[in-house]
Amino acid sequence: MAAPSPDKLFDKILIANRGEIALRVQRACRELGIKTVVVHSEADRDAKYVALADESVCIGPPPSAQSYLNIPAIIAAAEVTDAQAIHPGYGFLSENADFADKVERSGFVFIGPKPETIRLMGDKISARNAMAKAGVTCVPGSDGALPDDSKEVIKIARAIGYPVLIKAAGGGGGRGMRVVHTEAALLPAVALTRTEAQSAFGNPVVYMEKFLGNPRHIEIQVLADEFKNAVHLFERDCSMQRRHQKIIEEAPAPGVNARALTRIGERAADACRKLAYRGAGTFEFLYENDEFFFIEMNTRVQVEHPVTEMITGIDIVQEQIRIAAGQKLRFRQRDVVRRGHAIECRINAEDPWTFVPSPGRITAWHPPGGPGVRVDSHAYQNYFVPPNYDSMIGKVIAYGDTREQAIARMRVALSEMVVSGIRTNIPLHQELLLDEKFLRGGTSIHYLEERLAKRKQAA
Ligand code: ADP
Repeated sequence: MAAPSPDKLFDKILIANRGEIALRVQRACRELGIKTVVVHSEADRDAKYVALADESVCIGPPPSAQSYLNIPAIIAAAEVTDAQAIHPGYGFLSENADFADKVERSGFVFIGPKPETIRLMGDKISARNAMAKAGVTCVPGSDGALPDDSKEVIKIARAIGYPVLIKAAGGGGGRGMRVVHTEAALLPAVALTRTEAQSAFGNPVVYMEKFLGNPRHIEIQVLADEFKNAVHLFERDCSMQRRHQKIIEEAPAPGVNARALTRIGERAADACRKLAYRGAGTFEFLYENDEFFFIEMNTRVQVEHPVTEMITGIDIVQEQIRIAAGQKLRFRQRDVVRRGHAIECRINAEDPWTFVPSPGRITAWHPPGGPGVRVDSHAYQNYFVPPNYDSMIGKVIAYGDTREQAIARMRVALSEMVVSGIRTNIPLHQELLLDEKFLRGGTSIHYLEERLAKRKQAA
């Protein structure tokens, strides 16, 4: 165990999450000399990271609604274990303002932004408005929620120009979006998205954006403290997506106008100051024809944070903890330097071509290693991948002096990796790592889907 940190942070942190991020947060805490409490469902009882934690509390049966989303059970676990702060990871309750509120009202520190900031950015319409006010360009779209009046909706779509995208204000995880190509399809699509948004997010409000034809997804990582100091940690390119879900991420973004990037990074840091933002966060943009358009902000640590850690040497999770403890940022913008290139492949327990989830027992597990290779995973030989949660079982991150070296290292890493007993998407990654267009860099958010469709036709 590491020696206690000289600067007082917390004695004990409760981790309100599971899987690789629960382990990732635990590692950050242990390095800082902070004790950890891991909460878990009955399905995760035997996970090694649960045994590794200083304490663990079972908070309910396998379904997330009864365990990882069970706010009273999580707060009770913090009370009985005397934890001082709660780290929400990503997903689950990480962007739930009511949870953050209850955590703070119960006398614990929420490791993340203030509840009102989470609320503001959690509603995509209010987030768009806030960003526009802070001088950040958004994707052209409706001025707010779509009205009930059909004629008005048709008028708005005409003004934006087809194709348009109907989006749920409360949407997330790539869900709650529908593309509309023609006026005939507009009203039924709006009605359907409203109904789906109500049942999935408990909020029927939808808005409209121009559906961009060939953009890249480029996001800016930020860190901000309570004293309105804010820095950006450069960008990540997360354009390789399936069903609006990222599968490969990298930093820096290949071939993007450097001046435009610096400007958008500064804008993002500036927006943090204006919003009195606290903690780690990500501004997500679509990038087309040298222009950035804001789509949403994530007020938490993201799955793809390691690529930024690899090129900047900054431990984002540790910085989240320091900021939550009330410390000032330890660096200014000019102190943040990046070097080299990093790529992350998300390893999912699923069929690489049909994408059908493949939970079950891992009979052999051999993670790769070597220079520049990082594996963030909670899996091990004999680990049982429960069917109840997201299919991601880990991430392989490769770092190199250049993009070519990072890709070469990733290829070697994946060729060494053995996962038996379940199916994984490693073969898909291996195919993409040889793809001519990916190797050139700069593919759009539609590239993977188009490529998969062609593959299907050929089969
Ligand atoms: P979520 O919160 O569900 O992740 P986002 O608003 O971040 O939703 O969008 C997720 C993905 O959907 C983006 O990365 C992009 O691929 C696609 N997308 C979102 N808005 C647009 C748009 N206006 N035009 C084209 N694609 C879009």
